[in-house]
Amino acid sequence: MPYQMWINGEHTSGNSGNVIEVHNPATEDLLDTAPAANAADVDLAVTAAQAAFRIWKRVPAGEKADLLHEVARKLAERTEDIARVLTLEGGKPLVENRDEMGWSAACFRYYAELGRNSRGRVVPSIEESQLALVLKEPYGVVGAIVPWNYPILLMAWKVAPALAAGNTVVIKPSEMTPLSTLLLAEIFAHLPPGVVNIVSGYGADCGEPLVLDPRVRVLAFTGSLATGQRIAQLAAPMMKKLHLELGGKDAFIVAEDADLEVAVPGVAWAALLNAGQVCTSTERVYVHESIASEFTERIVAYARGLRLGPGIEPETDMGPIIGERYRAKIEAQVAEAVSQGARVLTGGRRPPRFERGYFYEPTVLTNLSHAMPIMREETFGPTIPIMTYRSFDEAIELANDSQYGLGANLYTHDPRKAKRFFEEVQAGTLWINDPLTDNDAAPFGGFKFSGGSRELGEEGLEEFRETKHVHWDFEGGAKPWWYPYGK
Ligand code: NAD
Repeated sequence: MPYQMWINGEHTSGNSGNVIEVHNPATEDLLDTAPAANAADVDLAVTAAQAAFRIWKRVPAGEKADLLHEVARKLAERTEDIARVLTLEGGKPLVENRDEMGWSAACFRYYAELGRNSRGRVVPSIEESQLALVLKEPYGVVGAIVPWNYPILLMAWKVAPALAAGNTVVIKPSEMTPLSTLLLAEIFAHLPPGVVNIVSGYGADCGEPLVLDPRVRVLAFTGSLATGQRIAQLAAPMMKKLHLELGGKDAFIVAEDADLEVAVPGVAWAALLNAGQVCTSTERVYVHESIASEFTERIVAYARGLRLGPGIEPETDMGPIIGERYRAKIEAQVAEAVSQGARVLTGGRRPPRFERGYFYEPTVLTNLSHAMPIMREETFGPTIPIMTYRSFDEAIELANDSQYGLGANLYTHDPRKAKRFFEEVQAGTLWINDPLTDNDAAPFGGFKFSGGSRELGEEGLEEFRETKHVHWDFEGGAKPWWYPYGK
């Protein structure tokens, strides 16, 4: 069966008759096609979600939890075939996509339980004859716009809390990786029709109608800063609630006491995981000058030892970049840095052994300045730019010298440095000695231009709940402070 969208509990090819061609970034071959939705498809999906909201918001919490646990169970059951499609369309190694499926199932399990844990709180009232309730209510229809680097996980981080809070959703995957998300129709099929809808399409034809529909009360978006800014402009006249998870330029500080046996592979993994296409990829490395030459020498050797190849091959460590446009951006940043005096110690090129596929070698750079685009703009590629520092003050200053503030990492066993790091670095997640580990129970999101919203944890549920204060006086008598004042 061709890949189809999922609207109101039914498969559909949509109204436009157009398709998205999805290519395998490891081979550049056409993999398959997905429907390219237009505004009429989005309208149908939002209409279905709005109708389903009247049912879903009344489903008792325990029953909702069971239904979300069933989503988790099916995600876990389908790990192998969906991870395969994720690998073919997105490029990252199969082992990483199996992890993505496991984390996505865990996220649904977490919110299945959290969603039935509280509906707000009771606060002390002004008078004895009163009850003061703080109620948490769903908004209604949530639009979930997802990027290509973690299509299922970043869907889960939005859809699981949104559903647990009682909202209904319209999901729009990236046009680069729509196939794995379209497979989720069966995973959501046991929910009432319209509670989850999936429309595949391009940003302008499918994403923007979702943003512009006034019935979509919350627009949850993960993607680039430029698209986030465009969405914010479109949504402003409607006072729509926005939930934005944008780019990053994460720093990794390596202190002089770091164990290089751990720090070298740790930094390399943080920078090269998914070929550096993680929002929290390490994109700037600051190493204490006393260990910089040994660290650099070792990380160059380590990067050279990694195996590039199609993600579907079990021995592959690092797959391709998602597409030509994205590889060209990495190449331009490296070329610009070199033209300004940077040194490429390894990589900095397309691996000669591949004739096809958007591969780019793991690239270690030194002789950098903080004015270079490679130290300022998001690279989203397998680069390890290394600068040295003398004092910890300087390392913190360099880490904070960015418009972004998503995550930051540190290797040290010195508690004074660790405390200064987590207090002074302006970022949403501070990892000390264990890079890039997420926790369903802990919030994830960024400071500054990284967006300001939070996914996961109790904060991730709150993003999809509106707060209502109920002030109830059950005596209901006249109050002495009313008119007339002259009495
Ligand atoms: P992107 O902004 O190009 O696209 C993201 C999604 O937005 C896609 O589904 C796309 O079709 C849609 N879109 C594009 N234009 C739109 C428009 N005008 N209106 C509505 N929707 C539109 O980003 P990408 O290249 O898919 O993903 C990479 C980016 O995502 C990086 O910047 C990365 O840092 C960021 N990211 C952030 C996080 C986080 O949690 N902060 C996580 C992963 C990725």
